[in-house]
Amino acid sequence: APILLWFRRDLRLSDHPALSAAAESGRPVIPVFLRDPLVGALGAAPRFRLGLGLEQFAASLAGANSRLTLRSGPALETLRALVRETGAGAVWWTRAYDPESVARDTEVKAALKADGLDARSFGGHLMFEPWTVETKDGGFYKVYTPFWRAVRGRAVEAPRPAPGRLPAPDAWPGSERLADWRLGAAMDRGAEIVARYAQVGERAAQGRLGHFMAHVVAGYGESRDRLAEDGTSCLSENLSLGEISPHQCWHAGLRAMEEGKAGAETFLQELVWREFAYHLMHHTPRLTSGNWRPEWDAFPWSEDAGAAKVRAWQQGRTGIEMVDAGMREMYVTGRMHNRARMIVASYLTKHLMTHWKIGLKWFEDHLIDWDPASNALGWQWSAGSGPDATPYFRVFNPVTQAKRFDPDAAYRRRWIAEGQRTPPEPARACFEAIPRRWGLAPGDAYPAPVVEPAEGRKIALEAYENRDF
Ligand code: FAD
Repeated sequence: APILLWFRRDLRLSDHPALSAAAESGRPVIPVFLRDPLVGALGAAPRFRLGLGLEQFAASLAGANSRLTLRSGPALETLRALVRETGAGAVWWTRAYDPESVARDTEVKAALKADGLDARSFGGHLMFEPWTVETKDGGFYKVYTPFWRAVRGRAVEAPRPAPGRLPAPDAWPGSERLADWRLGAAMDRGAEIVARYAQVGERAAQGRLGHFMAHVVAGYGESRDRLAEDGTSCLSENLSLGEISPHQCWHAGLRAMEEGKAGAETFLQELVWREFAYHLMHHTPRLTSGNWRPEWDAFPWSEDAGAAKVRAWQQGRTGIEMVDAGMREMYVTGRMHNRARMIVASYLTKHLMTHWKIGLKWFEDHLIDWDPASNALGWQWSAGSGPDATPYFRVFNPVTQAKRFDPDAAYRRRWIAEGQRTPPEPARACFEAIPRRWGLAPGDAYPAPVVEPAEGRKIALEAYENRDF
């Protein structure tokens, strides 16, 4: 009987444990993707990027003698219908870890097993399953550095090659059309612009990894913080959808270390930040929804998502160039440099005294590399409410940060058109990418600061000192 292979955030053929096991079984493999309510709940940009990824992935499967079947509906019901149509005896998938997916998958697995099917989940999204990393007293890690020490020497499974031709069923089940799903429908008008910057699919991801290892990783220790440089791997959008596996990145990093490339270990550490985020989300699912430290519930953050200062932040019009450049980069490319993410998050939660959940939600709607664990940890870390936040109440000064990490203002000029006689293409593209209803144009005067850096610092520190926790 055929195996239904339910793809979710694992859109690749190589180093895919569930797919390899299915191919090795010799039984027909039917790859499916379901537009279930969790796909419907994705933010605009991640949903759009998923559509690009699915298009590529369907083509890859076609090249492997296979086909991607698309169906809409609640997962269990839809899988049961497919089992009936195809006579499948097994439903396999790659494990997910966010609370919503875990709830869905637990229900699906129990129900399919009760139907007498071989329902099974495989690893592949993470190198270190969250329950396999324990502190000495059997707990989980709340701080990154000891987590890193606990995993750094572990053997990581060597990546598996793609299986080649996949055994096909006698007849394929009917499929919906990807175009009819309109996964980009909520993208306002920036979709084509974002697509220009995206690096879609397994082959593109492998190419990028090769480029990074050949040309960038040696200097990554420093380049990763320079805002204007091509100094990072840019693989997060691919890791997010599983177009590349962390194991593939890890082994490439190990090889670079053996070749004596200085930044390689730092790269491995960053991959472990991703693992750490998942570790925390698994052990404390509240990471994604509320203050990890409940005492922060008393902090006087504004929760008014419609406030003028929040709108200015969202639109990249705070009058603080460093903050606005980051927000505009996200509009145009669907990504944002890590250093800029920390700066804009600090500005929103400290200077603008606005709840991190408002920022988290905005990122969730605009990042093509959106990841439930990394986004939540990034925001809680920046806000101070997370487990491994900065040891003291840190307020990033966006002006000092800009001087250090964008010393010649190249990053700010790339993204901010106002005041430049001939702004570069990305700065102009911003005004194409943003919704027309915002009524903004490149010739506008650049706004005065919503909150001056020094004043914002004072407000935030006062609130922190007067906190009743
Ligand atoms: P590189 O520097 O090349 O790092 C390699 C890989 O390591 C990344 O692709 C990523 O998978 C992982 N990584 C690096 N830094 C981190 C980190 N701080 N936390 C977790 N994993 C990390 N990352 C996301 O993938 N999705 C998000 O939604 C996301 N939201 C964030 C929100 C905030 C407020 C902050 C401060 C950070 C967020 N990050 C998020 C983490 C980080 O900014 C991005 O992973 C990174 O910028 C991606 O660029 P890169 O692939 O070139 O990274």
